[in-house]
Amino acid sequence: MTIAAPQRVLFIGGLGRSGSTLIERLLNEISQTWAVGETIHLWERGIRDRERCGCGHAFDECPQWSQVGLEAFGGWQNVDLERIIGLRWSVDRSRRLPQLYRAHRGRPWNADERDYLDHLRRVLLASATVAGSPTVLLESSKHLSTAALLSADPSLDVRVLHLVRDPRGVAYSWTKQIERPEALGELMPTYRPSRTALRWVSDNLGFRFLAGLGVPTLTMRYEDFLTDPEQGLRSILDFVEVPQPDAFGFLAGNRAHLVTPMHSIAGNPLRFGGDDLLLRMDDAWRTELDARSRRTVTFICRPALGHFGYRP
Ligand SMILES: [Zn+2]
Repeated sequence: MTIAAPQRVLFIGGLGRSGSTLIERLLNEISQTWAVGETIHLWERGIRDRERCGCGHAFDECPQWSQVGLEAFGGWQNVDLERIIGLRWSVDRSRRLPQLYRAHRGRPWNADERDYLDHLRRVLLASATVAGSPTVLLESSKHLSTAALLSADPSLDVRVLHLVRDPRGVAYSWTKQIERPEALGELMPTYRPSRTALRWVSDNLGFRFLAGLGVPTLTMRYEDFLTDPEQGLRSILDFVEVPQPDAFGFLAGNRAHLVTPMHSIAGNPLRFGGDDLLLRMDDAWRTELDARSRRTVTFICRPALGHFGYRP
């Protein structure tokens, strides 16, 4: 009898607006990878609300996700949505991080955690099967709690790409009003800079803590990635042990031409953006973020700024 090797998963983690969708789209062009998107939002935004998949189809009309539903549960209609949404909001929360961290130290899962994790695992393993068993699944939920859950599952080989971006750029981005392309007329949420700054500190230090518990982690600054995208991609491929191609046909300097459809659920509007991307830093915060907000963000993040190579 052969025992299947754990499915490799690259978990793209970090605070939203740190470049995750862009990097996910670039990685999705590589044949050994497959982007599933943000599984934390699958139950509500995908199955319940039938929001659009990255391929443009409504969730229930996307052939890829229909197959995954069949493979994982014999069809999405067999998922007890009310229960799983309840579990998502009780188990997969930042406030439960101390308990989730302890699971890495041998604490047994409770019944709710086991059930929730079982659903996530089924979706991931079914995605790998439907996609033709790619080497690496790209999971971009970003949440630290989801990373802490998935990385404690022995049937998955979870490696975390921890993306960090200058907190002033992140804070400015979360003040902007951006339309959600999945749901017409709806806006992405906005947050006050002080709130974003607090999240920046707790999330980034939390990912460091998870790495300290033994979860393989590659910390990458978005600014460094954009300085040399090809080198950035090569570092990530090394990290997940995918053979290096001689060249990335979709990438020329800081221009990318994307051709592979992406069936990811939820995430940044960039998922639906054009196929030609200019990879460059959005530095609008330097002029657009007001001085007071800038001081507040710098003050809150100061103890951790230097740790990630940023200057006050
Ligand atoms: Zn799709």
